[in-house]
Amino acid sequence: MSGYDVIIVGGGPAGLAAGLYTARMDLKAVLLDRGPLGGQLLNTELIEDYPGFESILGSELAVKMGDHARKFGLEIRDFEPVKEIDVEDGAKVVRLESGEELRAPAVIMAAGGLPRYLEVPGEKEFWGRGVSYCAVCDGAFFKGEELAVVGGGDAAVEEGDFLTRYASKVYIIHRRNELRAQPILVDRARANPKIEFILDAVVKDIKGDQKVRALDYEHRGHVTELPVGGVFIFVGFVPNSMLLKMHVDHDDAGYITTDRNMQTSVDGIWAVGDVRSQLTKQIATAAGDGTTAAVAASNYVSALKDAARA
Ligand code: NAP
Repeated sequence: MSGYDVIIVGGGPAGLAAGLYTARMDLKAVLLDRGPLGGQLLNTELIEDYPGFESILGSELAVKMGDHARKFGLEIRDFEPVKEIDVEDGAKVVRLESGEELRAPAVIMAAGGLPRYLEVPGEKEFWGRGVSYCAVCDGAFFKGEELAVVGGGDAAVEEGDFLTRYASKVYIIHRRNELRAQPILVDRARANPKIEFILDAVVKDIKGDQKVRALDYEHRGHVTELPVGGVFIFVGFVPNSMLLKMHVDHDDAGYITTDRNMQTSVDGIWAVGDVRSQLTKQIATAAGDGTTAAVAASNYVSALKDAARA
């Protein structure tokens, strides 16, 4: 037995908020993340919509959130990938890729998700050679080049705007006539002279030699070749709910459904942040989810301890 009260899987804003609160409530908590702390914060350059921080780098906020939780005694194990989460006789078992096994009565699932693939020819072949899913990570490799961004949501429009600091031109290619992104982000992109929207256009394939040279898109039955040096794909997100070995209720897209206390359909497992089915994925909502789950998990663990003493 590892003797934890709560195991938190995922070190983005939702997991770190849960970690801060559980540690402050004097629970024995551990937070695991497969990489460095921060989750999606690390894929965002500038954050301008987290209350109290008019403008802060994603990487800086990640460090601040980690330090804050550690200060209250949270044990953090980064670069510690989780293989699966299971339930054995009521105990939650978290198996790590390393072979180690952790146990606790409560698990807060904050594992976020991964970018969705476009699934067109050339995408896999040119991954890392012009195809990217992270503008902050890779944008600087494309100084002076023309780039394509695929998608019509917040990420595509915001990251497309970010890429213009390096690229000479950014085409945002979206499959429908209407963008899903928030109007404030669309207005900013439309005001950027380096951005051109190509709407109602479906990317068919990505082509090149040693690296990406062009893509083909179809618009009203007509295929056009667009010469670009890179293709940044932002077509959504696939939640990491499959880490849970048992059945947990989820929506059609695989996001875990919870009650208002972030409780999943499995007793003693909560889901928070981007892995949870909800209206929006914001840092503020993730932190709120983590806080709610931490309080609920604390009540749950206290009730179990009281029952064991009675
Ligand atoms: P999203 O909102 O789910 O948008 C995905 C976009 O990709 C949609 O425009 C969708 O088209 C398109 N798409 C999906 N599958 C496709 C395919 N196979 N081929 C071509 N296009 C495809 O995803 P997101 O932009 O990654 O954002 C995820 C979440 O993070 C959202 O909740 C968002 O609000 C949040 N976020 C917020 C901010 C911010 O507030 N600053 C920044 C980034 C992300 P359709 O529109 O036709 O479905």
